Amino acid sequence: MTTEVPPLPTRREDLIARLAEPRQYDIAIVGGGATGLGVALDAAARGLSVALVESHDFAKGTSSRATKLVHGGVRYLAQGNISLVREALRERSTLLDNAPYLAQPLAFVMPSYKWWETPFYGIGLTLYDALAGRAGLGHTEFLSRAQTLALLPAAQPQGLQGGVKYWDGQFNDARLALALARTAAVRGALLVNYCRATDLFYEGGKVAGLLCEDSLTGQSYRIRSRCVVNATGVWVDELRQKDGAANSTDGRRPTKPMVAPSQGVHIVVDREFLGGESALMVPKTADGRVLFAVPWLGKVILGTTDTPRHDLAREPLPFKEEIDFILTESARYLRRAPRRCDVKSVWVGLRPLVKPQDDDGDNTKGLSREHTVLVSRSGLVTVTGGKWTTYRAMAEDVLRQCAAKSLIENRSAGVTVHLKLIGADAAGAQPHSISQPPGIHSYGNEQSRVMSLPGAQTELCPGLTEAMVRFAARHEYAVHVEDVLARRSRLLFLDARLASSLAARVGEILFQETGLDPQVAPFTELAQHYLRLPE
Ligand SMILES: Cc1cc2nc3c(=O)[nH]c(=O)nc-3n(C[C@H](O)[C@H](O)[C@H](O)COP(=O)(O)OP(=O)(O)OC[C@H]3O[C@@H](n4cnc5c(N)ncnc54)[C@H](O)[C@@H]3O)c2cc1C
Repeated sequence: MTTEVPPLPTRREDLIARLAEPRQYDIAIVGGGATGLGVALDAAARGLSVALVESHDFAKGTSSRATKLVHGGVRYLAQGNISLVREALRERSTLLDNAPYLAQPLAFVMPSYKWWETPFYGIGLTLYDALAGRAGLGHTEFLSRAQTLALLPAAQPQGLQGGVKYWDGQFNDARLALALARTAAVRGALLVNYCRATDLFYEGGKVAGLLCEDSLTGQSYRIRSRCVVNATGVWVDELRQKDGAANSTDGRRPTKPMVAPSQGVHIVVDREFLGGESALMVPKTADGRVLFAVPWLGKVILGTTDTPRHDLAREPLPFKEEIDFILTESARYLRRAPRRCDVKSVWVGLRPLVKPQDDDGDNTKGLSREHTVLVSRSGLVTVTGGKWTTYRAMAEDVLRQCAAKSLIENRSAGVTVHLKLIGADAAGAQPHSISQPPGIHSYGNEQSRVMSLPGAQTELCPGLTEAMVRFAARHEYAVHVEDVLARRSRLLFLDARLASSLAARVGEILFQETGLDPQVAPFTELAQHYLRLPE
């Protein structure tokens, strides 16, 4: 089944008019990241009526800041979490099938500098293949020194003994989020960005819906719904605490936070630092962490870190030690060491790790990467944790638990297993590699629709045309310059200086399309953060 339909318009006025309609939804979702959008799509595909509100832009939170891996989690295998790895490997294959222009297989090479590393890691990765079974993407191979250098031409040759090659996937996270949103919309879901859930309301002690506020106008709305899902990532405790306070019998015991946020930093450098088409994976850095160098949209992503962080900033900044760690470790494995002046962009995401109730969240590396679903006494369903790769399985689990509590009708699961996302190529043609520079290939089978808009031949920079900005405004919910330059195109994440230089022009086009303030100045200020490395 494909979704080759004319792109739906996403005019804000129309979305808000629908939001204002007095009706009851089957399910209302708070949070437009991977988790909330996955639930929205699964519910809509089952024929349920769905509304979703996102306080900022879709994928503005953690879901645009991943390492871009669609993976089973080699690291979780080392921790012995076989069921987590098996599920993620299955989901990896489903995702690659359903959005082949946004998620593709990628070869990873682990270079070995000690004699025992190739056999040791090779055996583990052979088990990884075995767990994948028919969902495998290719066999693990033991590499000689020469073969390793052929795949990783810019790897540090000194002391190199050989390597291991294995397969995982990579993806364009923010565009995948948009594809989920748009595919859900085609199935009738109402999704509104820049609309914050401010509170819940109750009937007979049970959640009966939510209150939300249009951030562009300040206008409040009431969404009545049989079931409310809190999918706000690291921010889930805010709504949980409101729910707890509203329903506490003694009014004293505060709801315990369930999330222990952990910060992950990535830096982006030019492709020459890695060379070749394969990613580099370091299974154990000097201090026992994992480090990736991933070719992505014409650049290389280096990262990441795992630092407990108790504040919940929308734009968290990196710590000096984190940048030092990435640069120092990269220098050990790359022929040419990247320096601070080589960094094109630096971005930080917060992992919503779920902590045991008696934990203070200071040992985030040891916390489970599995997701958790909690249903409160009043019926508020909260889901957090997990990873991008498993968003679909998480959505099924959420809906299973909603049905088990009779919050929604019990309808069969599995509807999204073979559901192609919007833009997925019906003809099954080989898509352009997403490790290559950005361009029209990011639109899958909607390319001709983008090309038919005014400005298709007007390049704002390589890979971004005026028509793409118009498409973002007309069909991809873009309101602000940041929406276009950070998440429709990924320029802010690839080259923050270049993104900043285009802000005014993108703002003009957006204003022509929407008549709304495109927020140019806040974007140029934000771009400075993506360039600033703490000294
Ligand atoms: C550094 C890093 C690297 C990662 N790499 C990978 C990877 O390579 N592969 C992988 O599979 N996974 C990866 N992950 C994990 C993955 O990115 C996350 O598990 C996933 O994005 C979480 O999605 P989410 O929807 O739960 O949270 P978010 O994406 O944060 O979404 C929550 C949304 O809720 C919104 N919100 C908050 N409060 C409100 C409110 N009151 N009203 C309305 N909306 C609200 C926020 O604005 C936000 O958009 C990585 C995570 C990090 C931090």
